Formats: sequence, C-alpha cells, structure tokens
Amino acid sequence: MNKNSSFIMALAPNTSNKKETVCIFGTGDFGRALGHKMIQSGYPVVFGSRSTQTSSLIPKDAEVLSHAEAAQKAAIIIIAIQRQHYNFLTPLAEILHGKVLVDISNNLKINEYPDSNAEYLAQLVPSAKVVKAFNTVSAWALQSGTLDASRQVFVCGDDTEAKQMVMDIVRALGLTPLDQGSLLAAREIENYPLQLFPMWKFPILLSLGLITFFFFYCLIRDVIYPYVYENKDFSFFIAISIPNRICPILALILLALVYLPGVLAAIIQLYRGTKYRRFPDWLDKWMLCRKQLGLVALAFASLHVLYTLVIPIRSFVRWRISSQIISQALNNKTEPLNTTNAWLSDSYVALGILGFFLFVLLGITSLPSVSNNVNWREFRFVQSKLGYLTLVLCTAHTLVYGGKWFLSPSSYRWYLPNAYMLSLIVPCIVLVVKFVLIFPCLDKPLTRIRQGWERNPQYSE
Ligand code: NAP
Repeated sequence: MNKNSSFIMALAPNTSNKKETVCIFGTGDFGRALGHKMIQSGYPVVFGSRSTQTSSLIPKDAEVLSHAEAAQKAAIIIIAIQRQHYNFLTPLAEILHGKVLVDISNNLKINEYPDSNAEYLAQLVPSAKVVKAFNTVSAWALQSGTLDASRQVFVCGDDTEAKQMVMDIVRALGLTPLDQGSLLAAREIENYPLQLFPMWKFPILLSLGLITFFFFYCLIRDVIYPYVYENKDFSFFIAISIPNRICPILALILLALVYLPGVLAAIIQLYRGTKYRRFPDWLDKWMLCRKQLGLVALAFASLHVLYTLVIPIRSFVRWRISSQIISQALNNKTEPLNTTNAWLSDSYVALGILGFFLFVLLGITSLPSVSNNVNWREFRFVQSKLGYLTLVLCTAHTLVYGGKWFLSPSSYRWYLPNAYMLSLIVPCIVLVVKFVLIFPCLDKPLTRIRQGWERNPQYSE
C-alpha cells in the first residue's frame, strides 16, 4: 500500500459522523426555525405537512412530504403543531410505532388542560416514545443564533434511550439539555414559559404598596402640613426629598423582611418541637422569595445613595446654607462647632456607608455565578451572619439619624411620627427576637430540632 494512503484515509470524511434524518411535523414558525438550525448543524431534515408544496420560507435543503411519507424517513419526529390539532396523529399510529415523538408545544395559560400536552400525545400514540423538549426555546432565539437568549432546553421522557437521542440533538444545536426526569415533569416544563417573574411578584407588589403608603404619609407631613400651618410651599419636596425618604425606609423594611421569616420559622419549630411538620404555605412562599426581597431592598438602598449624593447641588440646600451664613454675618456672630452634633452626623454617615457596603456584598453573593463558587457554609455565613450585621448597621444608621428628635413633640405633625420612625418597627422586632433566640436556653433546643431531634416523636420505633 502506498505510504500516503493512510494519510489520505485520515483526511477522508468520517462517514460515521453522518447525522440521522430528523422529521418535523408542521411548517409553521417554530418548525421552520428548528429546521434551519438542524440543517446548519448537519441534520438532513424532512418536513411533514398538510401541503407538500414548498415555499421560499422553508429551508431549501429540506424536503416537504405528507405526514405519512415524512414519518417513514426518520426515527425522530418533532411535532411543531399546537396541541388542539394532535388528533390528526391517531390515523398515523401504525407508522409512528416505535418512533420518538418530540413534543415541543406550549399552552396559552398555566395548567390549561388536566394533563400535560406531552402526556396527551403519549396517550394518543401509545406505541411511540414521547419526549418533551424545546418548548422553552423560542423560534426567534433559534433564528437569531441563540446567542442572546437562554440556551437551556428542559428534556423529559419515560424512555431513557429516546431521551438520550433528543439530548444529543439538543447538544448538536449548541444548546444545553437539562434532564428533568420522566414525562410526569412535562406539566411543570410546559408551565415555565408562561410564568412572569414568579418569585418577584410578592417583593414588587409589596414595594408598590409601601411606596404608595409612605409617599402619601410624607406628603401629608412634609408638604401639606407646612402649607396649612405656615403657608409654606414645599411641593418641590416631591422630586427629591420625599423619594430620598421613601428609598431608605423601603430598603430597611425589605431587608428586615428578608430575615423575619427565618425568625418566625425558628419560633414555630421551637413551639412544635420538631422540624418534620410543614410550615404554613404563606411562610414557605415568603422564604422562597427572600433573595428577590433582598435585591429589591438593595435597589432602594442604591437609589438612596444616589439621591443623597446630589443633596449639595440642590437649590433649596444651597439657599439654606447661604442664608445661615448671611444671618451669622449680619449678627456678627459665628455659631460654635457642636461636637455632639458633629459626632452624630459622622457616625450616621459612617454607619450608612458600612451598611451599604455590606448590602452590596450580600447582593453580589446572591448572584448565581458567585454563589456557585462558594460552599454552603460560606454562603450561609455571608447571607446570615453578614446579613444580620448589615441589618444592625442600617438600623443603627436610621436610629442615629433620628437622634434626639425621637422624643421631641415638634417631630409629631398631626400626631404622625416621622416616617423613618415607622421604618424602624420591623427591623427592631427582628433584631430583638433574633437576639433572644441566641440565648443558649433557646439556641440549644433549636439546633437539636434542626438536627432531627423531636420533643414528641410522631413515629417512635
Ligand atoms: P404556527 O406558526 O401556527 O405553526 C403551526 C403549524 O401546525 C402550521 O404551520 C401547520 O403546518 C400545522 N397545523 C396547523 N393546523 C393543523 C392541523 N389542523 N392539523 C395538522 N397540522 C396543523 O405555530 P408555531 O409558532 O410554529 O408553534 C408550533 C408549536 O410550537 C406550538 O405548539 C407552540 O406552542 C410551540 N412553540 C412555539 C414557539 C415559538 O416561538 N413559535 C416556541 C416554543 C414552542 P402545516 O401547514 O405544514 O401543516
């Protein structure tokens, strides 16, 4: 044999890499987009359609045949058709025997049908192996190269081999398959694309409610009251002063609400003497959205920082400072430096800076790319220990800000205390209860309960 022949053989195309034909039922938006992507990735594609007439929209390297003809050409058939039209598959049951049917369909509403679309398909064609996949990828994402969209493809199915074949295709398209188990998971997978920020709903609605409440509260105290009693127009407070009151208040309350469910859970466990009974639903849901609550709180804290930074350039502030200087000059008297006030103001700012720094640190560690790189103990240390320290610093920042005005009657307008006083209620409750829970007489039994000990075991051996 020629010396070069082995070299030539090595360069020859590897026929074993030839990909198997894939059949797509339906030449709609998704079918065509997936067909394009598959052809690009080296898969021969055949479309099964009600009309065998090809059009300029259909990828030119693909064949368009009747459903029965197309199904015979491939072992895998992707059903790019809405669930309500699945009936047309029943007469094809014989041809579809043993084939892998990929259900990619979505619904218009969460839990629209009693069963999932994939289970319905499996029931219509029991002799086929049904796999759910691709429903979380949009036709647009497939067309735009999936670079600026999620690459995750949730896959589930009862036949392991069929699922593996589909996952291989997913990988070949440059996407990431995530095995979700049996076809029972299809219902959940079908609900994913219909959810609208499920974990953010409670934090956002709560924030909107609190913003509305505190806005009107501050408006009454800081704008309407001076107008009624002193005939002063402070309506411009609406632009910066009132938002700069609302933002820190919300940041503090929401941060406290991140830690309140943990404290409530501890009280419930201590009371029940076991960790093996479910928490009430509302507490479970609250615990699940703590990260989102914390991030919304961080957003308000950041806004507070920005609003505070612009204080020196505000016309009202510059006018107040200059009028103080002028009145001192006119009276020919310089006010002495009040060291107590200087201490209070510096401590208040320092506590705020440190609190915000830790707040940002908490936010960064909650990002998946960071939290994936720390172990459970490190994560708990940051989120629990540093989290409580942040709450202590931010509460102290607000307390020092209040300083001596707490008991002053002038800070109660129409019997309404200053808004920041209201913001201290939840954080103080959380910190006091947490402090009590640290006492060994409570901490020890709680730790034992969390390690599995029960006061009155339900299932004794
Ligand atoms: P579409 O553009 O309306 O296409 C649906 C296709 O189904 C039609 O083009 C038609 O293909 C076929 N069809 C319609 N009525 C039929 C019937 N009575 N019997 C048999 N076939 C029928 O819809 P689509 O956007 O491609 O969506 C198709 C499926 O993909 C849906 O289940 C959808 O939930 C899912 N999906 C879509 C997207 C997306 O971004 N569009 C994303 C994820 C999942 P022929 O004319 O060739 O027969």
